[in-house]
Amino acid sequence: MKEVKSPKKPLIYYYLIVLAAILLFNMIVTPLISQSQVVEVDYGTFVQMAEDQELGQVEVDESQNQILFTDKDETVLYKAGMIPDPDLAQLLKTSGAKYGGEILKQANPIVSFLLSWVLPIVIFALVGQYMSRKLMNQAGGKDAMTFGLGKSNAKIYVQSTKGIRFSDVAGEDEAKESLAEIVDYLHSPKKYTEAGASMPKGILLVGPPGTGKTMLAKAVAGEANVPFFSISGSEFVEMFVGMGASKVRDLFKQAKEKAPCIVFIDEIDAIGQKRNSGHYGGNDEREQTLNQLLTEMDGFEENTGVIILAATNRPESLDPALTRPGRFDRRVPVELPDLQGREAILKVHAKKIKTAEDVDLHVIARMASGASGAELANIINEAALRAVRSGRTVVNQSDLEESIEVVIAGYQKKNAVLSDQEKRVVAYHEIGHALVSAKQFHSAPVQKITIIPRTSGALGYTMQVETGDKYLMTKEELEDKIATYTGGRAAEEIVFGSVTTGASNDIEQATKLARAMISRYGMSDEFDMVAMETVSNQYLGGDASLTCAPETQKEIDRKVVELVKIQHEKARKILEANRAKLDELAEYLYENETITGEMFMDILTRGENS
Ligand code: ADP
Repeated sequence: MKEVKSPKKPLIYYYLIVLAAILLFNMIVTPLISQSQVVEVDYGTFVQMAEDQELGQVEVDESQNQILFTDKDETVLYKAGMIPDPDLAQLLKTSGAKYGGEILKQANPIVSFLLSWVLPIVIFALVGQYMSRKLMNQAGGKDAMTFGLGKSNAKIYVQSTKGIRFSDVAGEDEAKESLAEIVDYLHSPKKYTEAGASMPKGILLVGPPGTGKTMLAKAVAGEANVPFFSISGSEFVEMFVGMGASKVRDLFKQAKEKAPCIVFIDEIDAIGQKRNSGHYGGNDEREQTLNQLLTEMDGFEENTGVIILAATNRPESLDPALTRPGRFDRRVPVELPDLQGREAILKVHAKKIKTAEDVDLHVIARMASGASGAELANIINEAALRAVRSGRTVVNQSDLEESIEVVIAGYQKKNAVLSDQEKRVVAYHEIGHALVSAKQFHSAPVQKITIIPRTSGALGYTMQVETGDKYLMTKEELEDKIATYTGGRAAEEIVFGSVTTGASNDIEQATKLARAMISRYGMSDEFDMVAMETVSNQYLGGDASLTCAPETQKEIDRKVVELVKIQHEKARKILEANRAKLDELAEYLYENETITGEMFMDILTRGENS
């Protein structure tokens, strides 16, 4: 810490402020002591007043060549310039004025010096001392001379009986398994050193946001009962170059003192991004911090008991130097939970609230396909809030179902009033999707359709539910999916003969899927199994970039249009063939605003059974 100098600038400012304040004080206070109101007159006035016997006191100040005098009541002080006057003594004698003394008692020079200079300095010194002591207390301890700069502000997670355990992290069994070894090592390091095995120094937890990476790291510390240091990568990046590096040094110093312990660096990509990768060129501070981190990781011996866990959702952007053996050499994927995992996470969080008999978390888990742990926790919380809003303390199934829609699609927009015609269009649009989906062999059944506008901007909403988790999709299934996306627009075309802007999201989805089929999944005859696109970050949005010649791009675009067109046509045919059902279902949705999957299938199959 010695090399970190205390910031000089603030002190300089402080001194300047003090100086300015002293000068101001002087200007205000000094005149009060030494001067009062003085009226300047000429010598003739003085002589006139003397002759008229109107003088009170008179002081002849020869050194300044002036006369100070007061009126008879001694309320006004006059000053007049003196001219040589041999009759002055006689004039004074006959005027009846008191003279020979000092009118203005000059303030004692020592007192005035004390009052105008020493007192303000003492006051400001005392205030300054008080302020700096306060700052020291804030920065904490003797390091406070540096005002806390360069000191790592890693939060130490205090062990308590309430510490997070593996059992609190639902699902994620694979991740827990690979971390269990670390816990075992921290419990009995001897076993490992005797066998000559060394623990990895760093473990990288990789996965989308909200999947419980932080929780897992805390759980490792909780299970092993060791201190837990937690800091976010972005906290290292400081305003001053070199401060981040100094923070890293300090963090490792603290950790070594507390070993065995866990150091958790969240969002390590904030400092661990590839150096000189182009977009971030010239960020010295970040590079220095990363270099320091690498040096520190190399610096400490294996088996010192300091285990570094780091989390990121952008593993591909990390500097290769970070992930090489000896540093973060183990990578633990923390993926989005599957159906079972989702149910387990819901169960963990549902324990914190009161649930009604009718609650079926399996159904909720099925409906919330693709949700992360954090989103599931949010769903439970939203449901509890909804229950409170309607004056209950017990959460029921419909609270949970509604809160899925809230978390995924936003709140119901109470004041958005659709015109009659708009409502009808939306109803047909949504039924169009559902009907195309249901009529195709491979599509997932519909769970629920509503046409209550959402704050997210969607006017209607169709919830599809997979019966199980799907890892592979066939070409036909993908094509059917595209047809389903186009179903909404197709219904509008058939029924109203014109189209609306309501299909923009469908268009985006259908295009994305069709493009992926051709450029990534090798599902076209023309391009066979050649990758024309690479995904640059799989956990965040999955943006893809094209890696082919411009002519090929043109060709791909043409194929994409063709693919969507065929599916659009297919959707239209399906709807035309089922026009009566389309009308019946849309009418029902228009009247009731919500239709469940069961009701939908009921209406759809009604005529077929009889
Ligand atoms: P990450 O670090 O991956 O972004 P967090 O660990 O901060 O995610 O998780 C955020 C919240 O989500 C947690 O506080 C917890 O409530 C919830 N959560 C996420 N994953 C799980 C899980 N597997 N089990 C239970 N709760 C989870």
